[in-house]
Amino acid sequence: MTRADAPPVIPVMRPLLGAEEAAAVAEVVRSGWVAQGPQVAAFEREFAAAVGAVGGVALSSCTTALHLALHVLGVGAGDEVVVPSLSFIATANAVRYTGARPVFADVDATGNLTPASVAAAVGPRTRAVLLVHQAGVPADVPAIRLACPGVPVVEDAACAAGSVLHDRPVGAGAHLAAWSFHPRKLLTTGEGGMLTCDDEALLARLRRLREHGMSVSAAERHASGGALVETYDEVGFNYRMTDIQAAMGRVQLTRLAGIVERRRALAARYHDLLTAVPEVSAVRDPAHGRTNYQSFWVLLDDGVPAERGAVLADLAAAGISARRGIMAAHLEPAYAGIRHPPLPVTERLTRRSLVLPLHHDLSEHELVRVVDELARAVRARRVAS
Ligand SMILES: *Cc1c(COP(=O)(O)O)cnc(C)c1O
Repeated sequence: MTRADAPPVIPVMRPLLGAEEAAAVAEVVRSGWVAQGPQVAAFEREFAAAVGAVGGVALSSCTTALHLALHVLGVGAGDEVVVPSLSFIATANAVRYTGARPVFADVDATGNLTPASVAAAVGPRTRAVLLVHQAGVPADVPAIRLACPGVPVVEDAACAAGSVLHDRPVGAGAHLAAWSFHPRKLLTTGEGGMLTCDDEALLARLRRLREHGMSVSAAERHASGGALVETYDEVGFNYRMTDIQAAMGRVQLTRLAGIVERRRALAARYHDLLTAVPEVSAVRDPAHGRTNYQSFWVLLDDGVPAERGAVLADLAAAGISARRGIMAAHLEPAYAGIRHPPLPVTERLTRRSLVLPLHHDLSEHELVRVVDELARAVRARRVAS
């Protein structure tokens, strides 16, 4: 459908950026200190406080954060890490970087690992569990920890800033939580990530490791007028965030509560309207927490004969930019050689779910149009088959 009077395309997502971010970035440029410095340190303090952690270490991405988390846990060749296949590929890739083997565990209808699926996957070589708060829906971390006593649990919280788990922010009490500030997430710094935790010694080691393993940071050396000479006690990485990014992140963080509130209101409206479309079921809060609705996904019920791709094509033709649901790493060629148990829920969710538009400025009119077109797409195919 390409009509001259076609309504404008409704994007699946759109970051919320304003003049304040632009001004903060310009100020950093004017200051002359554009690499990791005071803005990064302030962003770390403010973000860690917001997610209920003792401290944070800002990094270049969530992918590098996940790699560093597994690295400091000593994960390496011959080890196994329990991980969901249902996630963005970066989660499983982080395990591969260390030389360890990802052991895929199935998820439940919320898209998250469960205590039972984790317990079944843990074995004598398990060095860590890497769980995901999928699309912002909090996983039940305390219950999963009980299912793998003695095994550290790393939380891939890339999508979960502002989500709530057992009445605390996701991240509070985490062994290690990894965050993303890619524009697909609620808060963005262009690219960027963070690790948060409550262990001061671990935070200090993470700070060194992200900066080539230097015993003295560039900022500390600068403050000393060059009098401090660094040593390199272990092999590190360049996983730093810049002050330009951090300045933007600090402004973004002030918007977090408002972003989550708006997304939850829009999601509630979707839920209302979708009661008229019983052919799909939509993501909801789990019993143990509240999602930030990082993504609003729906699952086509088994009774719907339409392929998910056909529904997406119909939505695209109607000017609605939807997306396939969450991917599954074990179905990708890069993972063809990795053994895995049956993953029936993962496969159903990845093949039958789609992400509907949800962003701060989505209007009531647009939201109604999305639901109308979804209903039409689902039913048109039903009749046609
Ligand atoms: C986006 C995402 C990542 C990767 O984040 P980057 O900051 O782009 O590296 C990792 N895990 C999950 C679950 C994600 O959604």
